[in-house]
Amino acid sequence: MKLFGTAGIRGPINEKVTVDLALKVGKSLGTYIRDGKVTVARDARTSSIMLENAIISGLLSTGIEVISLGLIPTPALAWGTKQFGDAGIMITASHNPPTDNGIKVFNEEGIEFYLEQEEELERIIFSGEYKRAAWDEIKKVRRRDIIDEYIGAVLDFVNHETSLKVLLDEANGAGSVVAPYLLREMGAKVITINAHLDGYFPGRKPEPRYENIAYLGKLVRELGVDLAIAQDGDADRIAVFDEKGNYVDEDTLIALFAKLYVEEHGGGTVVTSINTGSRIDKVVEEGGGKVYRVPLGQPHDGIKRYNAIFAAEPWKLIHPKFGLWIDSFVTMGLLIKLIDENGKPLSELVKGIPTYYLIKENVKCPEEYKKAVLDIAQHELQKALMDEIKEVLTISGFRFNLSDGSWVLVRPSGTEPKIRVVVEGVTEKRKEQLFKLAYRVVSKAVERLKQNEQA
Ligand code: MG
Repeated sequence: MKLFGTAGIRGPINEKVTVDLALKVGKSLGTYIRDGKVTVARDARTSSIMLENAIISGLLSTGIEVISLGLIPTPALAWGTKQFGDAGIMITASHNPPTDNGIKVFNEEGIEFYLEQEEELERIIFSGEYKRAAWDEIKKVRRRDIIDEYIGAVLDFVNHETSLKVLLDEANGAGSVVAPYLLREMGAKVITINAHLDGYFPGRKPEPRYENIAYLGKLVRELGVDLAIAQDGDADRIAVFDEKGNYVDEDTLIALFAKLYVEEHGGGTVVTSINTGSRIDKVVEEGGGKVYRVPLGQPHDGIKRYNAIFAAEPWKLIHPKFGLWIDSFVTMGLLIKLIDENGKPLSELVKGIPTYYLIKENVKCPEEYKKAVLDIAQHELQKALMDEIKEVLTISGFRFNLSDGSWVLVRPSGTEPKIRVVVEGVTEKRKEQLFKLAYRVVSKAVERLKQNEQA
């Protein structure tokens, strides 16, 4: 059995994610790093304290000193780990429903543990061979409130004062303790909704995808704000609406920042994931830079390998000069700075980014068929698109970049029994045509495998 998925350990509380497992993760991490300090923090979920206590107990049993950072957003934990820790643990299920929770482990740079490191933790857990500290080797739990220090670090980095009016929707999550205060200190007029901590997520679903936050468009117009920002449960993600109440889609947000960084540096490399759009490539290439795509959940490898000046997955932006973790607070600060310095409303800035047409759908597929389905689909689509394929990327599934700028991505979900089909067309018609083809090929492959098994 695998414990870690693409986003650490995550699942239903007291089913997959239990106190027993949390205890083992604590013991395993302590065994792995042998000695030193580990920062521990949690989000606002009802089950987070329960898991936190188990993890701290596990760490202490191996002789690790624990720096307990309390209820803070994930980017603050990552920052705190780089400042004070030899490793860090965040207790959160990010944007999952309130019935779930999870555990994410970070290294001393504030980067989520690499695959090999997670496998090592798993190996220790399955072996059951943990380090045991003698009674006089057991260390302390030091409680530390880092919120003001973290906000100060973001303020220093962003280095900007504003008078913009901002609507913040914190999903009743951990961002509530940072975002309103950060923006207030920048000088912004802040209006909040869903900004009291509540593990039931009473305001809205914690995933800031458009369907869950569409109401913000109307609110933006009614309140006359310059932009609206929505976060997920642990506040590493950010979603944005412009002053007209239009949702700034995730690829456009990435492209805005990619453009900014490339222009600032007169080129440079940008790292993004396999599922983002070619508008990013377009603006980066125009600015004299280069885009590299890496598997989901592994932007940090890419940053180091390609010496990237900026990296992002949808909704998750990394500013390497500040830190190698996803930092929504730096993102919101810099976005405000970008608007002010251009002297243009956000809707105008967005117009500078080309628009393409994206569609994402899932095909249900049992775990054991995933590999075969991907093989069949790649073969069939390669045949069908033969002359148009410009580039083939085979990192987590496959992606065909086509000569007209459209692309097709078919990849296995890392967390669910699904195959994801993503298509971006340079025109609406092209999108429809390519999507129909790709969806049919994948669905047929799943059907065929099911029938073969029954026969
Ligand atoms: Mg998150």
